[in-house]
Amino acid sequence: MVSPPVWRGSTHLYDDVAHLREGLKSNDDGHFFYGRRGSPTQWSLAEALTEMESGAAGTMLYPSGVAAISCSLLAVLQPGDEVLLTDSSYDPSRSFADAFLKRMGITARYYDPLIGSDIAALFGPKTKAVLMESPGSLTFEVQDVPAICQAARAADITTLLDNTWATSRFFPALQHGVDIVMTAATKYIVGHSDVMMGAVTTHSHYWTRLRRTAQQLGQVVSPDDAYLAARGLRTLEVRLRQHEASALKIAGWLKQRAEVGMVLHPALPDCPGHELWKRDFKGSTGLFSFQLRDGDDRSRACFIDALELFGIGYSWGGFESLALPVDPQKYRTATEWTASGALVRLNIGLEDPDDLIADLAKAFEHYHSAQP
Ligand SMILES: *Cc1c(COP(=O)(O)O)cnc(C)c1O
Repeated sequence: MVSPPVWRGSTHLYDDVAHLREGLKSNDDGHFFYGRRGSPTQWSLAEALTEMESGAAGTMLYPSGVAAISCSLLAVLQPGDEVLLTDSSYDPSRSFADAFLKRMGITARYYDPLIGSDIAALFGPKTKAVLMESPGSLTFEVQDVPAICQAARAADITTLLDNTWATSRFFPALQHGVDIVMTAATKYIVGHSDVMMGAVTTHSHYWTRLRRTAQQLGQVVSPDDAYLAARGLRTLEVRLRQHEASALKIAGWLKQRAEVGMVLHPALPDCPGHELWKRDFKGSTGLFSFQLRDGDDRSRACFIDALELFGIGYSWGGFESLALPVDPQKYRTATEWTASGALVRLNIGLEDPDDLIADLAKAFEHYHSAQP
C-alpha cells in the first residue's frame, strides 16, 4: 500500500517475558512498546518531517503547536534560568513564559525582533535559551536568525525557532544554525483545518532531552491525526506554491490601493527584515498583514464583516482564506508598535486569487461608507 495504515491501539502484546524485557532496551521509533510511544502511523510522519530538515536527529509530535513550544522550552530550561523571547512572539508563547515559566523560577525577557547579532549584549549569566519567531506573529518582522544563532552558540545558549510560517521547506532552520525548530503542524503541514498538531525537530545534541521531556509529559498524537497530517504533507509543496503566488498577487494589489498603508509581507519591501527574507528564505507563504491607513476599530470591523469569501477566525495555513483584526500594540513590551491606522491579517487560501481580490474590492466600498 502507498499509505501507512491507521494503526490504533494502546497495548502491544509480547510473545513471552523475554520479549517484554527486550522491549525495554530501546526507546526509538520503530519498536512497538506501548501506545504512548506511537505506532507506524506516527513514526512515518515523524520520519518524513525529520528528512525535511537536513542535519536533524529526530522529530517529536505533540497534540498542538502550543504543546510543542511549551515542551521544548521545558526540555532546555530549569529554575533560575532566563529565556529571551522575540517581542513579536505568538501570544501563547509569551503567556507560557510570563505565567508558567515564571512560576518555575524562570525569567523571561523580550528583545527587538530586528536586534540581530546585538542580541549578545542582552546575554547574562542566567540566559540559557532564545526563542525566535521569524517572521513574527501579526507584524512579520524577519529576524537575522543566523546571526542570533551564532551569537548564542558562542555563549553556549540554546536557540529555538517557531518556523510555522515558512516551514522547513522555505526555511531549513537547522542549516541556518537553529538548535530546536518548532512548527504548528496545525497550519501548513495539515493544511486542511481539520487537525491540531505540533512538531519539533532537532539535532543529535538535544534529541534525547527533547524526547524524554515529551515522554515524561505524556505527549502523544492520535494515529488518525497523524494519518491526516501525513496526507497533508504529501501536497505541502504544491499548496505552498499556490499560497505563495496568490498571496503575492493580493499583497501587490493591496499595495496599490489608496486606503492601504504598509503591507507587512516578508517578500515586499515594506516589511522590516525584507532583505533578510531575500537572503535566507526559499519562498513566502500565504499569511501577511496590511494597514488600513485611516482605519479605526469600527471601520476595520466594517471592512472585515463585508468580506464574503474570507472567513473570520483564528488559525491559518488551511485551504480557506481568513481575515482577522490584529492589534500588536497590546502585546509589546520591549518595543513599541506605533503605526497609525488599523491592521488586518489575511490568510490567503487556495481559492482563485481574482475572486479574493474582487471580494476585497467590495469590502473597501463598505469601509468607505463607515469612515467618518
Ligand atoms: C498557531 C500558531 C501556533 C500554535 O499552534 P496550535 O496548533 O494552534 O497550538 C504557534 N506558533 C504560531 C506562529 C502559530 O501561528
